[in-house]
Amino acid sequence: MNRRYRKTIIAGNWKMNKTLSETRAFADAFKAILPKVKTCDVVLCVPSVNLQGAIRAFKDCRVSVGAQNVHYEASGAYTGEVSPAMLSDLGVKYVIIGHSERRQYYNETDFTVNKKVHAALAAGLRPIVCVGESLEQRELGVTMELVEYQVKAALSGVTAENVRRVTVAYEPLWAIGTGKTATAEQAGEVCSHIRAVIRGLYGARVARSITIQYGGSMNGSNAAELLAQPDIDGGLIGGASLDPEKLLPIIEAAGQEQT
Ligand code: PEP
Repeated sequence: MNRRYRKTIIAGNWKMNKTLSETRAFADAFKAILPKVKTCDVVLCVPSVNLQGAIRAFKDCRVSVGAQNVHYEASGAYTGEVSPAMLSDLGVKYVIIGHSERRQYYNETDFTVNKKVHAALAAGLRPIVCVGESLEQRELGVTMELVEYQVKAALSGVTAENVRRVTVAYEPLWAIGTGKTATAEQAGEVCSHIRAVIRGLYGARVARSITIQYGGSMNGSNAAELLAQPDIDGGLIGGASLDPEKLLPIIEAAGQEQT
């Protein structure tokens, strides 16, 4: 983390979990234990059907609500889809784009990720862009090249002014939902490379202001070590974000004094 230059962001990705009543129950329990001191931003990305309810439930606390996907068109014949303006009009602040599950199950490509990033930014949303390699790609030794390509493709055509509203989440596919975390060194190395790629595209000032998260089985036991890496500025958290008691220690780790 480097709180001097950039935000630390702990974001939960609830995926297809929690009904509206469960969302309200989580909010009540979480608000009761959430520290008032603001050392990091907290975001919860909930299923789209519960966005409005979640915004209400977290209204009187420092949790921002995010979506898990968005369409790149403004409106039209796209049955089942949600537009960027629909999200921003509700009061949604963040949107996850290019999560590996969407790339794997819903044909999300680097091309559509880029279109969605542009559309989200134009609507005033803050994209959380996910990149990361599979186990096979890591074993082939192409992690850095692949992640570099994904970052460049996602940000293609995005101005230096707008890119400051983008968060990049490095999520190795082999660590998502598997209980298998990348070591702090592995994660830190790729996050540093992502910042170097952004530096090459936009210069040093912009690069040092961008939040880069790690995601992949982050929990209360490994968060402090991961967040101690200079280029890891937060986490994108699946499983552990579903339980207030499991999410809290990650937020506390993000609030620890830096050495
Ligand atoms: C995720 O879905 O982005 C994720 C990192 O999940 P988990 O924390 O469960 O590995």
